[in-house]
Amino acid sequence: MDLPYIDKTIKKLVKTYQTRDPYRLAKELNVLVLIENLGDIYGYYNNLRRIKMIHINSNMSDNKKRITCAHELGHSILHPAENTPMLSQVTIASELKIEKEANYFAINLIVDPSADGIEYLQKYQKLEYFGLSDEFVRYI
Ligand SMILES: [Zn+2]
Repeated sequence: MDLPYIDKTIKKLVKTYQTRDPYRLAKELNVLVLIENLGDIYGYYNNLRRIKMIHINSNMSDNKKRITCAHELGHSILHPAENTPMLSQVTIASELKIEKEANYFAINLIVDPSADGIEYLQKYQKLEYFGLSDEFVRYI
């Protein structure tokens, strides 16, 4: 995984658009976000005739939707032309390089290093602060 590249990409996005909100970033980057009933799937990214689309399951909490949006936004930026796997409870712990990259992107987009008092928090406290589950600790 090229982590410095992903770090640099996030930094540039935040600087350019002044937000860490994955929905706002998707809008700025012309990536369509579709909220729909996807059953057991959290979400997926696809590219249809060069139109980039993020699909998010409507049957999830706002927090989970936001994390899914950030993960799929990572694919749209890091792997725009690839057919990426659908995100689910099973694939969230995937060892696939593109999945780990999308998770790394999502977590480091959501965890704002300039948030008040963040420097005093341990890894698991940081995750909790931003509403992220413990399984993401490997990306922080
Ligand atoms: Zn993925």
